[in-house]
Amino acid sequence: MAGYLGNKSDGIVHHLAEMTKECLIYHIKKENKMYFTPDTLTQAKNKEFVPCKYCISET
Ligand SMILES: [Zn+2]
Repeated sequence: MAGYLGNKSDGIVHHLAEMTKECLIYHIKKENKMYFTPDTLTQAKNKEFVPCKYCISET
């Protein structure tokens, strides 16, 4: 199972295990979904995705 899901339409990456209803993941169109290899936040950032403020907490 994937850990991170990027939304290509707004450039935000979500953590699927921590997602909240504010993430609106279910509104992401299939063609806008982006998975990462390797499946890490670092890789998502390398692809210029921004961490979601609801489901990814960074210090
Ligand atoms: Zn999120």
